[in-house]
Amino acid sequence: MKCRTRASQVADPVNDPVFVRLAARMSGMSNGMVEFQMISTRGMTHPVPDPARLEISDVRDRGYYEDALAGPPGSLVTGLPVLRKSARRWALPMVLRLEREVAGFSMILCLIDLQRLSEPHETWRMKDKGSILLLRDDGHVLARAPFDPALLGLDLSVFPRFGEMRTRPQGKLVSGSAFSDGVQRIVSYEKLPGHPVFVVSSRGYDEALQPWQTIRRILLLVAALLTLALLATGLVIRRSHRAVFSAQAALHRMAMTDELTGVFNRRAFMEEAARAREAARQAGTALSVLMIDCDHFKQVNDRYGHAVGDEVLQGATRCWREALREPDRLARLGGEEFCVLLPGLAAEDAEGVAERLRQLSAGAQVSAREPALRVTVSIGVASLSAQDADWQSLLARADRALYRAKEEGRNRVVVETPEAV
Ligand code: GH3
Ligand code: MG
Ligand code: MG
Repeated sequence: MKCRTRASQVADPVNDPVFVRLAARMSGMSNGMVEFQMISTRGMTHPVPDPARLEISDVRDRGYYEDALAGPPGSLVTGLPVLRKSARRWALPMVLRLEREVAGFSMILCLIDLQRLSEPHETWRMKDKGSILLLRDDGHVLARAPFDPALLGLDLSVFPRFGEMRTRPQGKLVSGSAFSDGVQRIVSYEKLPGHPVFVVSSRGYDEALQPWQTIRRILLLVAALLTLALLATGLVIRRSHRAVFSAQAALHRMAMTDELTGVFNRRAFMEEAARAREAARQAGTALSVLMIDCDHFKQVNDRYGHAVGDEVLQGATRCWREALREPDRLARLGGEEFCVLLPGLAAEDAEGVAERLRQLSAGAQVSAREPALRVTVSIGVASLSAQDADWQSLLARADRALYRAKEEGRNRVVVETPEAV
C-alpha cells in the first residue's frame, strides 16, 4: 500500500515538532497503547522524540524490517508480535517504509501493546470461550483476547478453514477444535479494508448452542424420564395384567373344574359340548358322547363311607383320563355321573372307547383305603347325527342309552344309534 506522510517532507522526523506532537497525540489517544519509533537506515530503532539520538535496538533481523525493505517505498508492513525485552510486554509492530530516506531514517515503527489491546477486546469478546483475534492475511496470529502469548505469531494458515477466509473477505465458519486452543468455535470474520488483517470474532460453539443444548438436554431428560415412566408403567401394567390374567385364568379353571376329580365340571362341559358340536357340524366330522354312571354307587358310600366314595370317583377319573386322547373331554356332570366328548369319533369307535373305559373301571383299583374295591360303570353312547338340532339332543340320546344300559343290567355299554331315535 502506498502511503504518503509528512515525515517525507521534514528534515529530522525524530525531532520534528509536528511529527513528535502527532506521535504523542496518537499515543495519548490510545492511552499509551501505541508507541512510535523511527528506524534508521542502519536498522536501528530510535524513540520519538529523540533529542539524544538514542539507538534502542537493532531490528535488522526482524521479519517486519526485512519485509519492509523488500516491499516498495510507502508500504505498510504488519509484523509478527514481538516480546519487548525492555518492558517485558508483547507488542505488535507495524512498519511504514518512507517514500525516501529522511535524515538517516527510512521507516516509522509503530508498536502496539498487545496486552493493552486485548483489554477492550477482553470486554467485547463473548464470554466464556469467545475470542477476538487479529489475524494477518497470511494466517499469523497478531493479537488475541483473551491474551495468550503462546498463540501470538502462531501460523493458522495450515488449517483448511483459513483457506476459506482467504477466498472471502468476510464470512462465518465453525472452526475446528484444533484451530487455536482446542476449543471449537463459531467464527465471524472480516478483513479490514486496506489492511492485511482479519478481525476474527468467535464464540464457543457449545456456548452458542447452549440455549438449544439446554432445551435439548431437558428434552432428552424428559424423553428419558418419559421412556422410563412408560417402561415402568408398561412393566407394572404388564405385570398386573399377567397377575390379573393368571388370577382370571385360575378363577376360570376353578369355575370350569370339578373340585373333587379335577376334570371339567358340568358348566365347562356344556360349553365344550356346544363348541365341539358346532365345530363338528361345520367341518362335517363325527362327534360322539359317552354318558357314564357308576353302578350302585349309593351302596359304595353306604358300605365304605363317603370318603371312600370320593376316592373311587377320583380313582376312576384318573384311569379314564389316562385312557383318553388329548381332544377328548371328560367331565363330571354331578354325583357319580360323568360324560366324555369324543370329537372325530363315530358311534362304532366311540363304543370301543366306552368299552375300554368300562373294562378299566371294572378292573382298576380305585381306592387306596379299599384296594379290593371294584366299581363298575354303565355307559350310554350317542353320536352326532343330522337329526340333532342341538347338543342337548345328542346328550339326551346318550342319556337314554345310559338308561338302557342300566336297565339291561349295568356294567355295560349301550349305543344309541340315530336310527333308534
Ligand atoms: P345306579 O346304579 O342306578 O346308578 O345306582 P346308584 O346308587 O349309583 O344311583 P343313585 O343315583 O341312587 O345314587 C348316587 C349316589 O352317589 C348318591 C350319592 O350319595 C352318591 N354321590 C353323589 N355325589 C357324590 C360325591 O361327591 N361323593 C360321594 N362319595 N358320593 C356321591
Ligand atoms: Mg349311579
Ligand atoms: Mg347316577
